[in-house]
Amino acid sequence: MTFQADYFDGLSARAKPVLVRVLVDTKQLAFDVEGYTYTFALADLQVQAKLGKAKRLIDLPDRSRLEAADISELEAAMPSKTSAFWRGLHYLENHLGWVLVALLATVFAGWLFLQFGVPKLAEYVAKATPPSMEKKVGEQALQGLDSQIGYFSPSKADPARKTSITAALKHLCDALQDCPQYQLEFRDGGMIGANAFALPGGYMVVTDQIITLSKNDIEIIAVLAHELGHVKQRHAFRQSLQGVLSGLILAAITGDVSSIGSGLPAVLMQMRYSREHEAEADRFALNALQKACLPPKAFADILQRLEAQMREGDGKGKKSANDKSANTTQQQESHDAVSEMLASHPDTLERIKPFLAAKQTCN
Ligand SMILES: [Zn+2]
Repeated sequence: MTFQADYFDGLSARAKPVLVRVLVDTKQLAFDVEGYTYTFALADLQVQAKLGKAKRLIDLPDRSRLEAADISELEAAMPSKTSAFWRGLHYLENHLGWVLVALLATVFAGWLFLQFGVPKLAEYVAKATPPSMEKKVGEQALQGLDSQIGYFSPSKADPARKTSITAALKHLCDALQDCPQYQLEFRDGGMIGANAFALPGGYMVVTDQIITLSKNDIEIIAVLAHELGHVKQRHAFRQSLQGVLSGLILAAITGDVSSIGSGLPAVLMQMRYSREHEAEADRFALNALQKACLPPKAFADILQRLEAQMREGDGKGKKSANDKSANTTQQQESHDAVSEMLASHPDTLERIKPFLAAKQTCN
């Protein structure tokens, strides 16, 4: 059995055509170059894996090499050295359908990882992060929001109102056995509008606009009870970690780093909690209001008002200027920012049901 090949001696780039003999009995390969016979044991050959239609390469133990178009004679005589992986790869190369299947499977696996793996990963990372570090992250996020134009400016709300809200929140927290550490911050919400949200590290921001929108302190406390639920479960920190992790993964895949260069404030502002997180925070709020002897209905009231305001914002262009009080301009500015309280909940009515159904447990 023989096959044609080019011989490269490893010293010069010049190919020497040879006729290679496959000696099945002695499990050897032999060929003659310029009157000299080279003989190698088949077991010592390194046959490189088949790649497309390229010539097959056979590395010889003395660093010389043979190149041949067809080595089926040799392969038939050789114990198979090519791994299942390379054989599989070669198979795929010649079956485009399977390449597409493999590609789709890769994309799907990536999506699965971003969808389910990253949140789990973020949860583990959050658990392993000391609270002091999380607090630093929150502190920097707040500084970022304070310094960026359009987000926060110092609160102009009535100081007496702020004092009473602070005291009422403390009262609620005192009534709970599992109240997390928090720090309440008041800000003019700018384009964020009527809003309240939890930042990493227990920072809870309440905007002047939502104070204006509320009928009383209890409504603000109801909103803050929901935010305390997010603080308790470290949702904000987990969510920011997810944003950063997903950004890094996407950047690694696409090579586009602009997605992670946009900074933490932007990440936080685009942040949407999962419905699961929102439901968790709602349950915490309902329980907290009941423990503190506050009417759960207050939560339903402010939520409905937030929603009504959002709807109004959507159709504001057609409204006459005098049908609202002085905060109309603020509302108009803020209509494009969806309140944290509503962001992940298309169905407010469904959501407030338990709050309307719950009895105030004490008078
Ligand atoms: Zn929420």
